[in-house]
Amino acid sequence: MDHERMRRLHGRHGVKMERVSFDTGFVSKALVANDSWEFRFERPAGFTYRAGRHVRMTLLKPRFRDRKGVTRFVSFASTPQDRDLVFVMRMRQTAFKRSLMALAPGQKVRIEMLVNAPHRAFALDDAACEPAVFLAGGIGVVPAYSMIRDALERGLPRKFYLFYSSRTAADAPFLEELQDLAAHHPSFVLVPTMTGEDASWTGRTGRIDGPLLTETISDLSTATFYIAGLPDMVADMRALLETQKVPAAQVLSEEFGGFAVAHGARQGGARLAAVGIFVAVAAAVALHLAAGAYVLRLGAIDLRNPAFAIGAAVVLAAICVKLWLVFGAGHRK
Ligand SMILES: Cc1cc2nc3c(=O)[nH]c(=O)nc-3n(C[C@H](O)[C@H](O)[C@H](O)COP(=O)(O)OP(=O)(O)OC[C@H]3O[C@@H](n4cnc5c(N)ncnc54)[C@H](O)[C@@H]3O)c2cc1C
Repeated sequence: MDHERMRRLHGRHGVKMERVSFDTGFVSKALVANDSWEFRFERPAGFTYRAGRHVRMTLLKPRFRDRKGVTRFVSFASTPQDRDLVFVMRMRQTAFKRSLMALAPGQKVRIEMLVNAPHRAFALDDAACEPAVFLAGGIGVVPAYSMIRDALERGLPRKFYLFYSSRTAADAPFLEELQDLAAHHPSFVLVPTMTGEDASWTGRTGRIDGPLLTETISDLSTATFYIAGLPDMVADMRALLETQKVPAAQVLSEEFGGFAVAHGARQGGARLAAVGIFVAVAAAVALHLAAGAYVLRLGAIDLRNPAFAIGAAVVLAAICVKLWLVFGAGHRK
């Protein structure tokens, strides 16, 4: 959901949504996992935020451009205690990400964020004491990492579980940092599991499922769940929690929609093409019927009639071209 829509929605329910916007300078970048890069930006004096939240980032002078635009949502990987604002993105060859990679130190980007977290925003409730359980898939670990590190740094008296599913260990941002946190904080339990081929991984494999949850946590019914990942993963985890009889009110989720929106856009494009072909075929059939009816009405079915002969030749040529397009052109290459 974009920020404007969220503002209108919550505005209607009497919650005043304010937005902060500032331009900030790029500091540095570093590779944190296969295809995942960390980007550091200056933190303006006085700017504060809650761990787990996300911003809308707009490139002000992008080196590359495409129709997907210059803006993306991205979650804080940093905590409010950190000096810099840190974001981690799974890289692909879109103009936005190529431009992000090409940023020079000091170059500005625009950051926009809704200030008062809307009801059920993806953030920890400091007053809560029931276990917080994070179910993260791939790059979806970013807000979980920010929230868990923030909570442990501030010594929140609460138990934290992170079920972290990744394709391989090398694809998993912050895996080592999280293992280190778990080793030093008894209140934090990390359960990483790899779903792909990974010869170097000796730990748990497979997807996050019911037995994995119940063998780790004795009572799921009181916990608050935070799910983050691609939309399919979020849907699967919501369904899993439903089968475990976890009340929906105890489940918060954040869908990293962009990757899937692009997929949706491709599906949308295919649908549009199918509708276009259908309309074109229907129009062609209607035109042929109308022409046939017209010729019959004139009683002009006579090859000696030049008008009919030319018309018939044109129709025959059109049929040949269509047959070639349907059966011939598709088999070239
Ligand atoms: C709350 C939230 C937090 C997120 N946090 C992170 C994070 O921490 N790290 C991270 O890597 N990602 C995060 N994402 C996802 C991120 O915003 C990007 O969508 C994602 O990284 C994919 O970006 P991409 O450049 O690879 O492009 P794509 O997935 O190819 O495209 C993404 C953008 O392009 C637009 N788009 C797609 N197809 C078209 C088209 N045909 N025409 C016009 N526009 C199009 C989409 O609407 C979207 O804005 C988050 C998303 C959300 C909603």
